[in-house]
Amino acid sequence: MQIRVYADAAATTRLSQTALEKALPFLRDSFGNPSSQHSAGVAAKRALEEARGMIAEAIGAAADEIVFTSGASEANAWILTTVGRERANAANLAAQEVAAPSCKLGAGRVVTSTLEHSSIRRSCEALKRQGVAVDCLPSNRDGVVSLDALQQILDANAADINLTSITLANNEIGTIQPIAESGALLRRFGVPFHTDATQAVGHIPLDVRALNVDFLTASAHKFNGPKGVGFLYLRRGVSLPSLILGGEQERGLRAGTENVAGAVATAWALAENVARLETSAALTRRITAEIVDRLRTLLPPGSFAVVGDESRRLPGTLNLVFQGVKGDALVRLLDLKGVCASTGSACSSGAAEPSPILLALGFSPEDAKSSVRLSFDRDNSPDDAAVVAETLAFAYRKISGRASAT
Ligand code: PMP
Repeated sequence: MQIRVYADAAATTRLSQTALEKALPFLRDSFGNPSSQHSAGVAAKRALEEARGMIAEAIGAAADEIVFTSGASEANAWILTTVGRERANAANLAAQEVAAPSCKLGAGRVVTSTLEHSSIRRSCEALKRQGVAVDCLPSNRDGVVSLDALQQILDANAADINLTSITLANNEIGTIQPIAESGALLRRFGVPFHTDATQAVGHIPLDVRALNVDFLTASAHKFNGPKGVGFLYLRRGVSLPSLILGGEQERGLRAGTENVAGAVATAWALAENVARLETSAALTRRITAEIVDRLRTLLPPGSFAVVGDESRRLPGTLNLVFQGVKGDALVRLLDLKGVCASTGSACSSGAAEPSPILLALGFSPEDAKSSVRLSFDRDNSPDDAAVVAETLAFAYRKISGRASAT
């Protein structure tokens, strides 16, 4: 089947040509180990550190605040399952120094939200089994977590909280959360703060200092970099137990010979996306808006609802709930017609469960199974809007047996 429109950029994106070209020499010719002392190793180390510097610059960090990882799942699980269990962290943060964590395991609380990716959600479930209390901030119907609820939890329990983790932008509906405001609040209480920025990095302007976060995670393949590479922003002075012990790579935090080519590709992909943020956002915003407009003329009133506050959405993400039609049936028919889309999160699609994100917004279990996520990036064309809207309208009519609006 030929792909006519790829409308699943939130699942993954195409590797940037520049990133590929910049990375190729490190797969082919410059194969040195960055830990080796000879010139081949020194060249690899230099490339790795240049990549780190480029990534830092793109998000307003310093180079020594970037730790390479295999992606966001790894980094999310790392932070949640270590800092989330560690009562000493708040004290370390206040002292602003790297201290050997004197962990008090199996105690305290973690605050998170109902809009998190499964890598956060499931890490929280693991914490609960270890005796850590988990508070979940509710979301309103528009897909925005409640700052009032955060304030209330802090007023009641701030001294017990090991970590707060709130996604920057949800992967199914794309709503952007009040991270800077939450961070300012949490800092007043000395509570460590992590944001999963996987869907946002490389798609909206982002500065880690303005966000008031201590940890931020990202995955390269969501911004036209390669799969299996990501990074963690770790604010200077904040302590984090090592993920893997061994060599001194990544300042001893994550041992293992570095993925130099992956790091180089990540840096170039991010730099390229950041340079094009405005044009890409204008393009994807236009596509998502046009799809909604076209569907309104193609389908009878009440056939679908747009999920999430439009003024707070990632420009390229659009989630629609269709009346009385299963999302997976629509997505299968779209695929047969050459349009790649998704039902909610790629990580949980295939499961017959209703989307926990839509349930958290107050949708019924039936409606939470009836959503289609369309997501676009810089590689899409303005013409894709008409193709997607017409194919979706065709699929909806065919499955629901409802006639067109006109
Ligand atoms: N967080 C969010 C918000 C995501 O969208 C994803 C990818 N679906 C991840 C974390 C995990 O990223 P990766 O699969 O690259 O580890």
